[in-house]
Amino acid sequence: MRVGIGYDSHRFESGRPLVLGGVHLPDHPGLKGHSDGDAVAHALIDALRGASALGDIGQHFPDTDPRWQGADSMALLAATVRVIEERNYQVVNADVTIVTESPRISPWVPEMAERIAELLRIAGSCISIKGKTNEGMGWIGRGEGLAAMAVVLLDQIGDIDTLHASIRTGG
Ligand SMILES: [Zn+2]
Repeated sequence: MRVGIGYDSHRFESGRPLVLGGVHLPDHPGLKGHSDGDAVAHALIDALRGASALGDIGQHFPDTDPRWQGADSMALLAATVRVIEERNYQVVNADVTIVTESPRISPWVPEMAERIAELLRIAGSCISIKGKTNEGMGWIGRGEGLAAMAVVLLDQIGDIDTLHASIRTGG
């Protein structure tokens, strides 16, 4: 079993759609970023990479690379899941906290959990998403942006020789 943590934050920018966990939350400024700014997907990617000690999102999807301009972050999350599966890991559960003054997250939680569970290939009941405010304090309290945190647990399947062989062959 291996645990990983991920953190991400983005500034709000009007004129962009707000996308969190692959779900479009209407009538609210979106998140500024090279990709679609989906902080939930980015935190999950870093948690998966952290649990499997595979570096961070910036090393694999650098924001200087034009390929990731406007990228669908859920596609990057799916690609990350494939990488950890190649190393014989499977996700056990994921726990996400979104910290923002607005919009309210709770109405969108079931849809986000469904999208994320599908990509992580686990049951929806193994995904937890919580929204909370920062009680008006600091940059989040002023509504300048939002932050997302994610913790994931991975289970390693197969024996260690199979694992090492799969790493050597890249598959
Ligand atoms: Zn990000």
